Amino acid sequence: MRRPLPAGFAERLEHVVGSAFVIGDADALVPYGRDETPNLAPALPDLVVRPGTVDEVAEVMRACAEGGVFVTPRGAGTGKSGGCVPVHGGVVLALDRLTRILDVDKADGTCTVEPGVILETLQQTVAEQGLFYPPDPASLSSCTLGGNVAENAGGPRALKYGVTNTYVLGLELVLPTGERLRTGKQTTKGVAGYDLTSLVVGSEGTLAIVTGITLKLLPSPRFVQTALAVFPSSEAAVQGVNGILGAGVLPRTLEYLDRASIAAVRALNPPYRFPEGAGAALIVETDGESEQGTLEALSRALDACGEAGASDTLLATDARKQREIWQSRRLLSEATRRIKGRKVSEDIVVPRSKIAEMVARTGALGDKHGLLTCSFGHAGDGNLHTQVLFDDDGELPRVEALLADLFEATLALGGTITGEHGVGLSKQRYLPLELSDEAIALSLRLKAAFDPAGILNPGKMFPDKLALRAKKRAQS
Ligand SMILES: Cc1cc2nc3c(=O)[nH]c(=O)nc-3n(C[C@H](O)[C@H](O)[C@H](O)COP(=O)(O)OP(=O)(O)OC[C@H]3O[C@@H](n4cnc5c(N)ncnc54)[C@H](O)[C@@H]3O)c2cc1C
Repeated sequence: MRRPLPAGFAERLEHVVGSAFVIGDADALVPYGRDETPNLAPALPDLVVRPGTVDEVAEVMRACAEGGVFVTPRGAGTGKSGGCVPVHGGVVLALDRLTRILDVDKADGTCTVEPGVILETLQQTVAEQGLFYPPDPASLSSCTLGGNVAENAGGPRALKYGVTNTYVLGLELVLPTGERLRTGKQTTKGVAGYDLTSLVVGSEGTLAIVTGITLKLLPSPRFVQTALAVFPSSEAAVQGVNGILGAGVLPRTLEYLDRASIAAVRALNPPYRFPEGAGAALIVETDGESEQGTLEALSRALDACGEAGASDTLLATDARKQREIWQSRRLLSEATRRIKGRKVSEDIVVPRSKIAEMVARTGALGDKHGLLTCSFGHAGDGNLHTQVLFDDDGELPRVEALLADLFEATLALGGTITGEHGVGLSKQRYLPLELSDEAIALSLRLKAAFDPAGILNPGKMFPDKLALRAKKRAQS
């Protein structure tokens, strides 16, 4: 459904942002046709525009609205569901020049940033003032705050600290019509009107361009303690998770590795050598204001692991040991990719009591479809990064069939098809499995209220045919 650009459109944009910041050269467009989603066909935009101010963003959006030109917002392109891929061509609106940290207010515990700020840069900047911005997607050294807001990004610390939405107090937006508005507040409390801020967080760039973000900050925890526990089976590890939380300990991370993930990491010779035949492992991290309190919490967590049948535990006594434990977690992505050469990585969530059952079902689905699988992820909140491993394109139909079964099983256990990566392109065909017709119809009406001409990030989240059906129903 590509549309030709109106005559003189590139020149109009050049007039707004300067010719150096409008890209139309075919080779230079290539990096903007993809993100980090595996197995997704690239799609080139007609133009990339890189505004340097919010006024320019609004002016670009007005030009696109008048010309009926599709716009796809883009942060750093680390997304894992194809959200910033311009499937219907048009303009990619790159926010990578809006990189100012406008304000860090220690007294109020807030900061305000532009959307192109890299997450790690913000975390380091606020840490210098003793403040803490907890969301920690593994892509933190490259992803942007705008992308985090659009995807409602989370990470290992979500168990204790929540995901991006927990911290977004207010937003500055440019609507697809070019109108500008502020939502939310500067304070940590406030309930005036509909919560438009929360609606935009996680909307995957389909409702508005995020041009300013006010975030809540916490005091930095002074102490962090890390340990690793090895279990004979997934069931025992889940018992460990329940035991830890049942003992009243709320770790800041509680990461899970299944048997196949451990075997994959072992093959890369990590500093910590998992015992032969390890069935599952948990990485447990506590934090707090006193060293003794943090250690006590960790030791209660390890006691709970012991009661659940942990066969080995390792307490990091210094920063080097801490890094070594996390090294096993960080190696997982690469280690599992090496097993077969190709893989898809899903981010399903089940109630945490169902993790062991989900891991067992995933293994059974692998057997059914003749494919290797493994699971690791954030056990405390039931978020599993299920990996389906394969050799080449010939196996893709079986991978797709396995994924359809996987999402059905996830939903049957009371879960959701995506906990972090979003729907984008890669999961849109499965969205109707999770959302009712009524919920989808209401979502499409909300989308139309923000974006009456349907130019913002078309072809995402909702399958085009669903959007079309809703439009016809509204017109009849
Ligand atoms: C190695 C790796 C590890 C990852 N680990 C995690 C993880 O642990 N947890 C997690 O949640 N995610 C993770 N991700 C996914 C990804 O990093 C996040 O979704 C991140 O928030 C995307 O940010 P980005 O700047 O790259 O956005 P992009 O990929 O550029 O865009 C993502 C979406 O946001 C929209 N968007 C971007 N900027 C704006 C804006 N200013 N206004 C409106 N819409 C906008 C785009 O249109 C698109 O739909 C990982 C990715 C990689 C490659």
